[in-house]
Amino acid sequence: MKILANDGLAQNAIDHFLNEGIEVDTNHYDKEELMKVGGDYNVIVVRSNTKIDREVAEALKGTNTSLVIRAGVGLDNIDINACKEVGIDVDYTPHSSKNAVTELVLGQMINLSRFLSLADRTTKEGQWNKKLYNGHEIAGKTLGVIGFGRIGQSLGEKALALGLKVIYYDLYKVENDYAEYFELDDLLKNADYISIHLPSLDKPLIGKRELDLMKETSILINYARGNAIDEEALIEALKNRKICGAAIDVFPNEPKVNEKYFELDNVALTPHIGASTYEAQNNIGNEIISIVDNYFGD
Ligand code: NAD
Repeated sequence: MKILANDGLAQNAIDHFLNEGIEVDTNHYDKEELMKVGGDYNVIVVRSNTKIDREVAEALKGTNTSLVIRAGVGLDNIDINACKEVGIDVDYTPHSSKNAVTELVLGQMINLSRFLSLADRTTKEGQWNKKLYNGHEIAGKTLGVIGFGRIGQSLGEKALALGLKVIYYDLYKVENDYAEYFELDDLLKNADYISIHLPSLDKPLIGKRELDLMKETSILINYARGNAIDEEALIEALKNRKICGAAIDVFPNEPKVNEKYFELDNVALTPHIGASTYEAQNNIGNEIISIVDNYFGD
């Protein structure tokens, strides 16, 4: 039995598999190499870097590979239909990273409200901008969550403890005792912080029209997928101060980042690190252990 962890794997999972006598290869193979050597492995584990597209899936047809696991939540880098057609099962680890993402979103809400990264940078440059950085408190404000699933609800619960009122928009109404459902336009008009927690979409949900509905004091956060927002419309809105600020962790063409962002001091960028905590990676490792053990019969 052989596992290829093409984008790496948490040590707890590596140790577990090695103890079970399972070979774990943590080398990274690019697409061409993966199409040649991938079939030697029974399981291929990927994070977001490796794409299992139709071509790769077809190269794995009839080989040893029977299971592809996405170590994370979004399955947008895996062509699930193509895998199904060639007889490869696909699984993922949906439960492991919600706390990591949620804490980072809250961090960015405070960062943007109190100019933390900007104040750090300019103070280190020798400036003393005490008067410039008069910020806002998040307590008493309204958080609008778009996509009230695992991460959206986890954020809502924590935000409540910080004194925020929570409202949400989703395709479905979610039974809960603290957050009211709002239609999208109403949420955009009413929220002070808007945080997106949707799966990958075919076209952006937030474009110029939606940005125009938002308050000029509002802060938009996207830690879901880059295609949730029309990037050019967001950059225009930030430039013209149509909205107050944004925090973005995910981009349409990762690892490329639109350079127009770099001139803006009201956007906080991170390189898709929502799930990058030791705890989340450890949890992901445990989820992968369960998936593999259940799949092959412990
Ligand atoms: P989830 O499936 O639990 O929740 C998604 C919610 O969005 C669901 O309630 C669903 O009904 C709703 N939804 C789907 N399409 C919609 C639409 N068109 N309009 C309105 N609502 C819609 O997912 P989750 O675990 O909460 O993850 C959310 C997102 O976070 C995913 O895109 C995932 O890839 C991303 N994520 C990012 C990172 C990161 O590192 N930045 C880490 C983990 C997850």
